[in-house]
Amino acid sequence: MPTERVTTVVIGAGHTGLAVSSMLTARSIEHVVLERGEVANSWRRERWDSLRLLTPNSQSRLPGYRYQGTDPDGFMTMPEVVDFIAGFAAASAAPLRTQTEVTHVRAAGDGYRVATSQGDLACRTLVIASGACNVPVVPAVREGVPASVACFTPFDYRNPASLPEGGVLVVGASATGVQLADELARSGRRVLLSVGEHVRLPRTYRGRDVLWWMEASGIWNQRYDEIDDVERARKLPSPQLIGSPQRATLDLNALAAAGVEIVGRLAAIRDGRALFSGGLRNQFALADLKMNRLLESFDEWALRAPELAVAPPERFEPTRVPNAPRLSLDLGSGEIRSIVWATGFKPDYRWLDLPVLDRKGRLQHDGGVVAAPGVYAIGLPMLRRRKSTFIHGAEDDARDLVEHLAASL
Ligand SMILES: Cc1cc2nc3c(=O)[nH]c(=O)nc-3n(C[C@H](O)[C@H](O)[C@H](O)COP(=O)(O)OP(=O)(O)OC[C@H]3O[C@@H](n4cnc5c(N)ncnc54)[C@H](O)[C@@H]3O)c2cc1C
Repeated sequence: MPTERVTTVVIGAGHTGLAVSSMLTARSIEHVVLERGEVANSWRRERWDSLRLLTPNSQSRLPGYRYQGTDPDGFMTMPEVVDFIAGFAAASAAPLRTQTEVTHVRAAGDGYRVATSQGDLACRTLVIASGACNVPVVPAVREGVPASVACFTPFDYRNPASLPEGGVLVVGASATGVQLADELARSGRRVLLSVGEHVRLPRTYRGRDVLWWMEASGIWNQRYDEIDDVERARKLPSPQLIGSPQRATLDLNALAAAGVEIVGRLAAIRDGRALFSGGLRNQFALADLKMNRLLESFDEWALRAPELAVAPPERFEPTRVPNAPRLSLDLGSGEIRSIVWATGFKPDYRWLDLPVLDRKGRLQHDGGVVAAPGVYAIGLPMLRRRKSTFIHGAEDDARDLVEHLAASL
């Protein structure tokens, strides 16, 4: 069969691939969007049952398409997110090929050869929108976990009934870890939460959602080439936030009050004992300091916008340091029966056969312009702006990248 030719291939029909597609359509650039599953596949297959977006509905915005409901301060459930993204795919008439997995990409002639589960394509330009969170990251210490303790990642956790009866150690206190620790504690489980570097935020500040402040004050619009240490900013953990109908704050004080035992960073597992680092006081002080600095920057911005109707400044109780936090846990004692590794995610580029990955397998790019002619990436942390991985962040990044792509054609 002759190989099908197309100007641009977009890999992935999550919200970023679809945002790029809508911009390509607007410029009449011929393209296809290849998706291994269905539209919004990650939200359909890789999330737990109770998850809601932590970004408010008012920030569910894609090019020419936005949340139209009556609750701008609410948070979408997973079926609602899937409907929202599928609605955008339909409204933008994306040229979709679902159930089409990209298995290999290599350079060929003046473009690329894309092998898929449905046959090969040849293209001049390529957009990698395959996601930043394809695989859960589990640290090497997992090797030391005894067989009597079951290990889970956020990909195989659906609800508390997914885990065997008994206590749970949740490792990692970013958005995923704090949400799962909270849900498990509320289900009546004994829960220990192992906390390393983290980002503390209140859900609301001066009467508005904290993420409203991030957007309105311009922080989320900061560009990757204006930030001193972009590599560090790209590795920042996700904030301790939950999207709940109560608009509740879910910081470590709230978790401790709900009965979660806070322990230090999991440093090692030796002879069946988990060893936690003793630096909780410092970790807490640092997270509190950074939160307060951020709130101060909101206050400074609000002073320059006197027309804003916001409540007076607030400050929050420092994170309470537990009395004598334990430094080790015998994993064989039966006190806990499972571990949930909420230790982050990473992309999966096993199909990408181009010299564009560094030694740790990370994609090398400059604001989404990949180091291979005509190849682009979108949806990665701080790709072009602080907001790059969020739904409302896709539009500006997609516009910039499609402009570059059009010029390269
Ligand atoms: C637990 C969790 C909670 C989050 N909460 C929020 C939130 O509240 N608000 C917010 O704005 N953002 C949130 N995010 C971040 C945001 O969802 C992600 O950044 C987003 O999913 C990225 O969109 P994307 O389109 O780039 O990737 P994805 O949505 O992951 O889409 C990538 C698509 O590519 C497909 N694909 C991958 N590999 C291949 C292949 N080889 N061939 C064909 N198709 C392929 C996948 O099936 C998938 O459909 C959250 C992320 C996670 C993990």
